[in-house]
Amino acid sequence: MIDRSTIERILDAAQIIEVVQEFVPLKKRGVNYLGLCPFHNEKTPSFTVSPSKEIFKCFGCGKVGNSVNFVMEHEHLTYPEALKYLAKKYHIEVVEKELTREELEKQNERESLLVVSAYAARQFSENLFRSDEGMSVGITYFKERGFRQDTLKKFEVGYSFEKRDAFSKKAIDDGYKTDFLVKTGLSIQHEDRFYDRFSGRVMFPIHSLSGQVLGFGGRVLKTDAKTAKYLNSPESEIYHKSRILYGMYQARKSITQEDRCYLVEGYTDVMSLHEANIENVVASSGTSLTQEQIRLIKRFTPNITILYDGDAAGIKASLRGIDMVLEEGLNVKIVLLPDGEDPDSYSKKVTNEDFLKFLKENETDFIRFKTLLLLSEANNDPVLKANLIKDIVKSIAVIPEAITRTVYIKECSTVLEVPEPILYNEVNKLQRQKNFQDRNKYPGPEDLPVLPTVITKQIQQGPVPIYSEREIIRLLLKFGTFEFERTINKEDGREEVLSVSDFIVREITGDGLLFNDRVCGKIFADFRFHTEHGLMTGDKQFVKHEDPEISSLSADLLADSHELIRIWKDKQTFVETEEMKLKDIVGDVVLKFKSDKIIILRKEIMSQLEEAVKSNDIEKVLILQKRYANLSVALGAISRKLGNRILL
Ligand SMILES: [Zn+2]
Repeated sequence: MIDRSTIERILDAAQIIEVVQEFVPLKKRGVNYLGLCPFHNEKTPSFTVSPSKEIFKCFGCGKVGNSVNFVMEHEHLTYPEALKYLAKKYHIEVVEKELTREELEKQNERESLLVVSAYAARQFSENLFRSDEGMSVGITYFKERGFRQDTLKKFEVGYSFEKRDAFSKKAIDDGYKTDFLVKTGLSIQHEDRFYDRFSGRVMFPIHSLSGQVLGFGGRVLKTDAKTAKYLNSPESEIYHKSRILYGMYQARKSITQEDRCYLVEGYTDVMSLHEANIENVVASSGTSLTQEQIRLIKRFTPNITILYDGDAAGIKASLRGIDMVLEEGLNVKIVLLPDGEDPDSYSKKVTNEDFLKFLKENETDFIRFKTLLLLSEANNDPVLKANLIKDIVKSIAVIPEAITRTVYIKECSTVLEVPEPILYNEVNKLQRQKNFQDRNKYPGPEDLPVLPTVITKQIQQGPVPIYSEREIIRLLLKFGTFEFERTINKEDGREEVLSVSDFIVREITGDGLLFNDRVCGKIFADFRFHTEHGLMTGDKQFVKHEDPEISSLSADLLADSHELIRIWKDKQTFVETEEMKLKDIVGDVVLKFKSDKIIILRKEIMSQLEEAVKSNDIEKVLILQKRYANLSVALGAISRKLGNRILL
């Protein structure tokens, strides 16, 4: 672990322009620098680097962050790895911190599980290639499936002996602790005996991005076995099924080179595609895709092609998961394999060239694919067709990019024989709902200076991050040290200056209000500490914060485009800065924050009230009703102050 003071030295030394320029040619434009975004494809530059704020922001894809975030994202590094990279660049010696006992234990356990897993992979591999049973059972299986020796080595496949405790016994004899054998799931304890989870199976090690063995998949070979065909390692400190894609370690380089990732279902599909010279392939191992897996792919490419071999029902069931892929802004294509073929069998039936050609010629946009599939089912039934249109519109509405949405709407209009404006209308409706929810996450320039004019029921139902929380933090970061007001102390006649952060901290802590968003809460606590101790704190401390959650939220908030407020007056545009209207804006945002909190509180009381009514607790009903009424009065007062800008 890198100690705190070294991290600070690294963050201080890193100059964002120097760091970015190593990968992206930049040109100076005013106070900022401009270049082509390395994170998405673009022809006109929208990637901006601000040396004064020490952040980058792409106005095309929305990526934002500080030097460390840039290195992490660009080089696919973890936070400590990125820090070490920067340390090297700026010739800073990295002092690794001594770990606490607890950290050491946790790390040791993780290490131990990795060591045991690596040992198991070696054992299984030896069993396969160097034992009679392995050769006659395991190798025979792989040969029958047509796999080459170099592929077996590449994926480090192995074999676990038929005998129920062969592996466990050997591991214990070799000095491995039973505790770790059980925690990795390799062994199962029954009373004081240890049995093998994977006995009689061919073994597929599942690797981390850097090639460490995290877990295993095992395939049973006996056809009459009364057990699952495939068995996976259970969840452990090192193996989290939802975060892993099989083959990612072997595929990562090729995915970046080809700028595309093929997704298949099984271990042997991945291996077969490698034999067909397609190396940019991963498998979800039978489970439906998770958001973490999608984000893992997105680190390497925005283009994903899913190979389907199932029947219509199976495909229909998996369509839901694909909306999630669209939502992440990935381009999804589908290839349907010929009847009765899976990627494994089909890639072996035709030549490599023909297989690749087949993939390229048969890939369809996901939306088109889904439309045609569902349309073929709906036939001429108007009710089914109406449902289908709703379904498709929902998929289109989650796509973050407007141009892509437009293309799909045009296409669906033709295929479905529905006029474009109707589809637009439906998509826009869903988008508005979604935008509202998103505004809690990403404030847009249209949101200021007038505060959001509607509070709909959605806020009451409380998606956790609240827009006004982010606004409070943004104002603290940007204007915390600015003067809010000046007053004369009546007793000694001295002038007192109240800063923006003094005012905000006083208002919020005075009413005992808390932040719902964890990261906003962390930043606020820091401001509160500084303010209460008479210290100043600036935006840089947060943008460079060692906690990556804090640094990236700060960078995001500081990079927004609220700098100018346009005011229309007699058909002329006046430009005012936020700074010129600071007092009004800060006051309004604090009020908005309070009203948001009251609304949530009222909602909570309302559900308690319902409970109390159900259980005939008259006393409680009265108390809650009073509290509800008090809150409503307070809310009314706030909205009058805000000048009817909040509709309740
Ligand atoms: Zn970009």
